Amino acid sequence: MPGEFELIQRYFAGDRREDVLLGVGDDAAVVRPRGDLALAVDTLVAGVHFPLDAPPESIGHKALAVNLSDLAAMGAEPAWLLLALTLEQAREPWLAAFSRGLRELAAEHGMALIGGDVTRGPLTVSVQVGGYLPPGQALRRSGARVGDGVYVSGSLGDAALGLALWQAGAADGEAQQWLVQRLHRPTPRVALGRALLGLASAAIDLSDGLAADLGHLLSASGVGASVELERLPLSPAFKRCAVTATSWEAAVGGGDDYELCFTAPPAVEAELEQQARRLGIAITRIGRIEQEPGLRLLDGQGHPWRAKRAGYTHFDAEGQA
Ligand code: ADP
Ligand code: MG
Repeated sequence: MPGEFELIQRYFAGDRREDVLLGVGDDAAVVRPRGDLALAVDTLVAGVHFPLDAPPESIGHKALAVNLSDLAAMGAEPAWLLLALTLEQAREPWLAAFSRGLRELAAEHGMALIGGDVTRGPLTVSVQVGGYLPPGQALRRSGARVGDGVYVSGSLGDAALGLALWQAGAADGEAQQWLVQRLHRPTPRVALGRALLGLASAAIDLSDGLAADLGHLLSASGVGASVELERLPLSPAFKRCAVTATSWEAAVGGGDDYELCFTAPPAVEAELEQQARRLGIAITRIGRIEQEPGLRLLDGQGHPWRAKRAGYTHFDAEGQA
């Protein structure tokens, strides 16, 4: 079995970018940034953020994807990542698959892996990312104004349904497998986020579920919103596999979709749709920003509807970790 440094060289070294002066191998990486930076870090813990039996390649993919989703929500262009890896044991096939999942996604976004850390302990993957923003610009949570449309990208609830199918060991059909992929290999909406700079008034990515995350955006902006549940975009696979009675629960309260939720004034609606078409990403207007604080979820008759579960929090009233 090769030593730690050899494993690092084999699976995590070698990425280059013109703004990286020093990558993996010294005590710290050195970069020469050319402008404003957005920085974010997110940790995935086995058994909490991904099932213990998730394929290693998707753990690598997801550890970076959730961080890219944060950059996307700011409108940033990804540049670098650092990786802190805690492992029970260094098994080469596992490391090879994990590193493939992570580095394929990094390469897709032109990012360089420039450093990290390996320690022994319960499987935990922490990724830090950095990316560029145009000077003085960023998509923030606090810019929503009364009258703005509320939009989401892609489709909602797929990952929640995928998790239920995975846990039940019932992911055998094509639609089921697609939903499980949405859980294990989320697609961060990086290009959409960048296109939203200068168009959207506020943005957030959906990690804990629409109700929870849109709630954060509304609080930060000091406004409220009405959302028409019948407008929520549901994927064909979701429609095939969801029990009808639970579909809004999953779409409103289910986490892990990593879509973007954003607001924009009516004046830019046509431009938004043009950008979404150019990028081949569906966007859907699901509601409007209103003066009255809070999130109002309306059923098909315009009556209030209440989710049983407000979104995933790590420390909720029941003490769930
Ligand atoms: P130190 O003990 O000085 O912190 P390490 O032994 O942790 O150094 O790391 C040696 C080099 O390998 C450093 O450049 C570090 O950034 C890099 N490195 C360690 N672990 C990883 C990893 N999982 N991915 C990428 N680079 C890593
Ligand atoms: Mg170290």
